[in-house]
Amino acid sequence: MKFNTKAIHAGQKHDPFTGAHVTPIYQTSTFVFENVDQGARRFAGEEHGYIYTRLGNPTVTELEEKMAALENGEAAIATASGMAAISTVLFTLLKQGDHIIANDTLYGCTHSFLSHVLPKYGIEVTFADLSELSNLERAIKHNTKVVYIETPANPTLKLVDLGGAAKIAHNVGAKVVVDNTFMTPYLQRPIEHGVDVVIHSATKYIGGNGDVIAGIIVGPKELIAEIKVPYLKDIGGIISPFDAWLLLRGIKTLGLRMDRHCRNAQIVAEFLEGHPIIDKVYYPGLFSHPQHELAKKQMDGFGGMISFELKGGIEAGKLLMNNVKLIALAVSLGCVDSLIQHPASMTHSPVPREERLRAGITDGLVRLSVGLEDVEDIITDLEQALEKVKNELM
Ligand SMILES: *Cc1c(COP(=O)(O)O)cnc(C)c1O
Repeated sequence: MKFNTKAIHAGQKHDPFTGAHVTPIYQTSTFVFENVDQGARRFAGEEHGYIYTRLGNPTVTELEEKMAALENGEAAIATASGMAAISTVLFTLLKQGDHIIANDTLYGCTHSFLSHVLPKYGIEVTFADLSELSNLERAIKHNTKVVYIETPANPTLKLVDLGGAAKIAHNVGAKVVVDNTFMTPYLQRPIEHGVDVVIHSATKYIGGNGDVIAGIIVGPKELIAEIKVPYLKDIGGIISPFDAWLLLRGIKTLGLRMDRHCRNAQIVAEFLEGHPIIDKVYYPGLFSHPQHELAKKQMDGFGGMISFELKGGIEAGKLLMNNVKLIALAVSLGCVDSLIQHPASMTHSPVPREERLRAGITDGLVRLSVGLEDVEDIITDLEQALEKVKNELM
């Protein structure tokens, strides 16, 4: 099956009791056994079947099978949030004395988890600019067990060569984990480039409608089984059946939505790049993006996220964000609505300023998640806000 067919059909089972075409929300905490022996067999793993929703639930299973199919992975697990996915994977793969290398540009809470939580458990962390593979080679130590990548990185839109990074990591027996939130499997399938584990904040494009917080982990069967039992089972960051159902509903239109996000973002990025009071625009679909060729090689589209800086820096950026009308001033991304935010004071405020600046997240950087509105309306809104900036500051 090709992508859109899988997005609709993979994992789908018509309800055996009622014939319901769409998978019901199995909103139940526990499942009844026929007798004591059956309960014992299920706990022993000798008989397949549900026990308790923290260990598995039919609505959640459909979501997991669908995401594994879309990422071309063997198996998947859904979690309560993107951060639950990230923390559960890293607690599984790392132990005291191990070393992890990660992009210097990361989602703010991921950066905070790596800098504050992991070191408490005796895990060494190195941040490096992985857009240059030589920096990855240099950061490798005898105890490196995980290489953690965001590509494109949030919010600078720098890319990492997935195939190249996987080769370097595998040479020393380390696993590669990629946060694929910005791309979705429609635009980038890291496992096809040799990556071991893919993570999503399903809160973003996977759900797509801005109404659910959730996460996804995709990887090899054995590793996913280990993440599930004991780690997810005992840490407990599982998804609710209702949230799984909302994601299933969103995923069916993922391909359609991503096509439109890409088309709108390309037009908006070109508009911004040509505007006299915009200083820099970061979007992998622009010829001016330093890794445009790599983007064409490992991505099937350039996505819906744009970052930019105004002439006039932070003051100009604030004025712009305070004056948009259609576009909402809010964090999060990958939603049907366009959202704008200020990484330095919002999503990336957990990152110390020095480190932030070194990673290219300047005080004046503005991040725009281009939504599915008619693109003329998005541009009209930006145009009127930019006009206000020009009149007040320039
Ligand atoms: C939002 C986000 C996360 C965290 O996901 P939650 O669902 O908010 O926990 C992780 N990585 C990236 C790239 C994100 O945008």
